[in-house]
Amino acid sequence: MPRYDFRCRSCGATFELSRPMAQANDPAACPQGHQDTVKLLSTVAVTGAASGGAPQQAASGGGCCGGGCCG
Ligand SMILES: [Zn+2]
Repeated sequence: MPRYDFRCRSCGATFELSRPMAQANDPAACPQGHQDTVKLLSTVAVTGAASGGAPQQAASGGGCCGGGCCG
């Protein structure tokens, strides 16, 4: 269940609620009981992905002499 951050404009408290996405925009009362709250942008915790990837291997050689086209 996603969590949403709210801030109370009455007392300035910030709090977090877990609620279904369908209720994301429903009003939330602050822990102190105030109704004047705003939803904050949710902070997405992203753990750093390790930078991977195979090392590039330079394609060497080539040329056209293999097939006898240089003749
Ligand atoms: Zn409050």
